[in-house]
This record gives sequence, structure tokens and C-alpha cells, in this order.
Amino acid sequence: MSTTNLHTSIEYLKGVGSARADLLRKELGLRTLADLLHFFPNRYIDRTQFFKVNQLQQNTSEVQLIGKITQLKTVKQKKGSRLVATFIDDSGGMELVWFRGMKWIKDAIKINTPYVIFGKVNKFGRSFSMPHPELELIADYKKSLQTVMQPVYPSTEMLTKRGVTNRVMAKIIQNLFIEVNAKFQETLSDEIINELQFISKNEALFNIHFPKNQELLTKALQRLKFEELFFIQLQLIRKNLIHKTKIKGYVFDTVGENFNKFYNEHLPFELTNAQKRVVKEIRKDMITGAQMNRLLQGDVGSGKTIVALLSLLIAIDNGFQTALIAPTAILANQHFNAIVDLLKELDISVKLLTGATKTKERKLIHEALEDGSLNILIGTHALLEDKVQFKNLGLAIIDEQHRFGVAQRSKMWMKNLLPPHILVMTATPIPRTLAMSVYGDLDISVIDELPPGRKQIKTAHRFDSNRLSVFKFMKEEIEKGRQIYVVYPLIQESQKLDFKDLMDGYESITREFHKPDYQISIVHGKMKAADKDFEMDRFLKGETQIMVATTVIEVGVNIPNASVMIIESAERFGLSQLHQLRGRVGRGAAQSYCILMTSFKLTSDAKTRLKTMVDTNDGFEIAEVDLKLRGPGDLMGTQQSGILDLNIADLVKDAHILKRARTIATQVLKNDPNLKNEKHKYIKKAYIAMSKNNALWSNIS
Ligand code: ADP
Ligand code: MG
Repeated sequence: MSTTNLHTSIEYLKGVGSARADLLRKELGLRTLADLLHFFPNRYIDRTQFFKVNQLQQNTSEVQLIGKITQLKTVKQKKGSRLVATFIDDSGGMELVWFRGMKWIKDAIKINTPYVIFGKVNKFGRSFSMPHPELELIADYKKSLQTVMQPVYPSTEMLTKRGVTNRVMAKIIQNLFIEVNAKFQETLSDEIINELQFISKNEALFNIHFPKNQELLTKALQRLKFEELFFIQLQLIRKNLIHKTKIKGYVFDTVGENFNKFYNEHLPFELTNAQKRVVKEIRKDMITGAQMNRLLQGDVGSGKTIVALLSLLIAIDNGFQTALIAPTAILANQHFNAIVDLLKELDISVKLLTGATKTKERKLIHEALEDGSLNILIGTHALLEDKVQFKNLGLAIIDEQHRFGVAQRSKMWMKNLLPPHILVMTATPIPRTLAMSVYGDLDISVIDELPPGRKQIKTAHRFDSNRLSVFKFMKEEIEKGRQIYVVYPLIQESQKLDFKDLMDGYESITREFHKPDYQISIVHGKMKAADKDFEMDRFLKGETQIMVATTVIEVGVNIPNASVMIIESAERFGLSQLHQLRGRVGRGAAQSYCILMTSFKLTSDAKTRLKTMVDTNDGFEIAEVDLKLRGPGDLMGTQQSGILDLNIADLVKDAHILKRARTIATQVLKNDPNLKNEKHKYIKKAYIAMSKNNALWSNIS
């Protein structure tokens, strides 16, 4: 059967029909033969092993035995009756019991003839019984399509109720294999199959449904998982390649005056090796003639700002304007202050544009943008408004990827002749396997090294009952001139309760820390923006020692003198959020601390999260644990769930297969970007079929 025939409806398959086809579509989304073929079992029952009656134990899962039925009788009970058979093998005897379909079974069973029976056993006193066993004459068993590992398909209550049992499902799929004569198109090249010692596509599909033995099942799984990941990577990498050949970008081949002057005379510290490497990667991107589309990952405090600034200087030296976009006004302000300060000896104009920018200033900015005199515009998404027109935007840097929609990003492209180079910076470490999938079409740089001399933040877990000693510790730190954050959770569903927690906490702190010795700031979501800024500013200036807040301070705020982070109800935060919050301290010279406060009631996941935080400061390590706890879908949010919705591979468990799939997809496309080579003909066919069938990639820029 050719591949096109796999697109026919399952309705016409033996054993299905229109009613079942309807049911299977509604319950499992199965429409075509191809859907059915790729509807894989989620587990298997090992039928290689035969038990003897005297080996049976209570709670054994499904077992099979060989023996004979010597006797059948109908037993009356309160309601109706049951059919009981005496089953024996050479080690002993047991009962088989039916409560339904008795007449049919009574007629069908052959007395004193060898059967293979299969099912779950129950123990009654000293003897065992098996209700509703599967029965097969040993003669038939030997003739039948030998499946020693019995597939168990995902199912629903409705399916079982309507008689589409696992057995029926297996039978239907068996019919599919018979119908197509068990012949399916190969989808990989001989080269890959040989190199990775894969079984053929045909064998893999057969053995995933009806494994001949454990070894072949393992091989089928390996191949099919690889294949699923391989074709995704092929699409992503190809998209990247097409982008590079199709989307022209400005060539920044001058490393000029501003860059050199800043680098040689005003760099406040030596760059780490990781920073140097990343600057090189970015420079290389900007001279290829293609538009840069790069993601820069670096843990909090890894020093992304300086990398951003050096990139801006290269663009400026080549006669272009630049933009730096942050997700909040606080962060935009902070970037603005940091960059103005770093550039104070250079003749470069920098402006800030946020929602709070006054009309008069706004007008000046618009003018300076359009006449080209403004070099760097820093701001919030106010920068993406249509009114903001650059004369020649050459580079746009976006801080904190996940807060910006892709639509906004591409909007910036339309503003000039060629799209600006794009650098996206994120402080949320993403495990490598996830990055490969979700950002597989972008180039990725990682700053995997912290600046030298950074003191590790000491993290401790304390129970609410230890609060007094925590207060004492806070006083000691304030005595040393430090400042302290106390953060409360804010989770949408229980806003009212959260708010009460925050206020109760604030009160208990004001009771312990009296004016005028102690000044306390409070910031939460119900305050007006101006009031929030006012309180943030007081804390920033050191006028208050304690900042009581909800998670509004989560992203990027930089107050070096704040060295203690106390997280209340820490069990309610996710790992990445805990890590982000902890990243607010450890920014100055002083030893910093993070204290995770919780109640005694902790789930096992919560315990893992707390232990991970206490054990490590490494954001990538934390992200890996987070991935294992939450799974890829939850980690990345629903936006990307399409790409993470895999049929057989698992991004957590099959990380090594993913890495290999990416490497091999890269190799294939490197030598043959359009898959024109004869040896790639099967890959090409499968690739085209797949690209047609899914709109998976439309949600990625
Ligand atoms: P993030 O990656 O979180 O944006 P920043 O760029 O804000 O990090 O840098 C964090 C702090 O580390 C800043 O105070 C910055 O001046 C300092 N820093 C960055 N790079 C280095 C370096 N190579 N050596 C010493 N300090 C550095
Ligand atoms: Mg930053």
C-alpha cells in the first residue's frame, strides 16, 4: 500500500465500521489509517512467561498459564448465576469464573483440551481463581500472529463501555497491518540506519505494536523516538538556514572608535571568558550579511548588560541606531542608568522612553530618532508603537524574552529597509534539550560562567516556627548596613488570601521593627504605579531597610546593598521563581543570604524544590530539576505546547536521543540543505509530508 492510502478513513478497515470510526475519532482523535498506525501502546504485558498454578501469588498482575479445563458448572447466586470452570496443570488446580456471557462460553469451551489462559488472579482462602480469563486453544495460540509482549493501548471509559476493549483495539491494528501487507515506506537514509544500527521503519512499526521480544521492542522505541525528534530538528534547523539565506541583514564590518575606546579605556572589569566568547559570536553574526536572530541565555548576574552594550557599540560604529527593550519600566530605568553611567566618557546619545515619558520629551525623542542623532533608545514596549520611527535601526536587543510576544518582535522589522539584527536576552535558564526544541530555529549563546569573586548566596530553609531567630538575624544584618527583601507569594486564584498574608506579614514586621530605628517599604499589585515607584525608590536610596513585597520585584531589579532575601510560603513558589527571587541579592560585595520560610506541611515536590535551592546556585542545574518535576509543557507555558506535544519521545527521558537527532539533522543539512541528494530521498519525502501536515511552527517567529 502506498503512503497516500494511509490517508483513508479508518471506517473502511475491517473491524471498524462507521459507528466505531465515529467513536474512535471522538474519543482518541483517530481518523485515518496513518493516525491508527501512529497510535502507539503505552505499555506492554510480558507474555513470554508462563506460570504454574503452584507459583501463583496474591497481587501478581496479569499472568498466563497452560493447562486444561476438566469441568464446567453453573452456580446459582443471590442475583443470577456464575459459570465456574476447574482448570488444572501438572502442579495443581484453580477456578476460572464468568459472570457474563456464560452461555456463549459454555458452548465454546472444549473440555480436556490444552489452553493458554491469561488474566488476573484472586486468592480465596488457599485457592486461586481467575475471573473472565482470556482463553486461547494452544493450537490457535501457536498459529496466531505471535505477540509475546501484549500491547496495551491508551483508552477511555467510553470506549470500554462501548465494547472497544484493548483486545478489540489490538485486533483492529492487526487488521491494519494485514490490510497493508505490513509494508511501510522507509523514512531514514541507509547511512543513518547503518550508523545508528537501527531496524527498518517496517520492523519498527510492527514491533512497537506487536513486539516479538523485548529486544526488538527496545529497538523499535529507539528508532521511532529518534525519528520523531530528528524530523522536528530537521525542520527547525532548516528554518534557521532558510532565514540566513533569505533574510538579508546589515553588515557591521567595522569595529570602530566607540567600541575600541570603551573596550580599552572604560571597561570597568575584565570580561569573563564566557562573555568574550559570546561577544565574538554576536560579532560574527553581524558580518555574515544575514539578519542575526540570536538568543542569549545567562543566569542572573552573569553579566549580560555589558555584552549588550558592546553589541550596541558595534552597531553604532557602523552608523546605525540601536534599541534596548525591557519588560517593565523599572528595568528600563535600570538599564538606562547603568548604560548612561558606563558611557559617560563617550559621545553617545542615550534616551529613555517608557509610558511615563512626558509628551515634550517624547517629541524630542521622536525627532532625534528620525534625524539619526539618537544612538541608543532604551525603554519598554512603548518603543514598539507605530509613532516611534527610527532613521536606521540596526540592532534591537530584547531583555527577558518571555514577556514579549513574537508579533511584537517582528513588528520591529518593518520599520526600515532591512530588519535590524535581533538579540534576545533571557535570565531564565532553559535546559538544553528544551532550548533545542523551543528555540531550535534560533542561534543560542550561553554565558555559563559568573564573574570572578562572586560570593555564593547562602540559602537556608526555615520553618515558620523559627521566625523569631529569623527576625534576630535580620536585625544583625541591618545593623551591618544591609537591606532586606521579604517576599510574599501572589497567585492569581487566591489574590484575596495572598493579600491578607502580605498585610499580616507586614504588620508582624512593623511590630518587630519599630520606627525610627527601622524604616519599612511595602510594594504590592494593588498600589498605583507612582506609589510603587516611590517606595522602590526609597529602598533603592537606602532610606528604608526592609522591603516587604509581592513578586513584583521578581525580574531584574538591581539593588546591590540588599543582601538578604526572605521568601515567605516558599513552598508555594516554583523553582524558577525562587531562583529569580534569590537572584535579587548577591549583587554587591557583602555575603548574601536567602531564607526560605515554610510551614511544616510539605509535598514531596516542594521538599525537592527547597532542597535544590539549598544545594545549588546554578540556574541551569535548577532548570533541569524543574523540568523533571514539571515536565516540558508546564515549564514553557501553553504558548509552546504544540512543539512539546510529542507522540513517543520524551524530552526529559530521551535527552540523549534528542542531542543525537540534532547533531545528525545538522550534518544532513550541512551537506545537503535542500535534501536533493539521492541518498536522502526517503528523508525528503517524509519531511515534505510532515511539513504539509502540521502548522506546528507557526507559533515561533
Ligand atoms: P545580568 O546578566 O543579570 O543582567 P548584569 O549585567 O546586571 O547581569 O551584571 C551583574 C553584575 O555583575 C553587575 O554589577 C556587573 O557590573 C557585574 N559584572 C558583569 N560582568 C562582570 C565581569 N566580567 N567582572 C566583574 N563584574 C562583572
Ligand atoms: Mg540584566
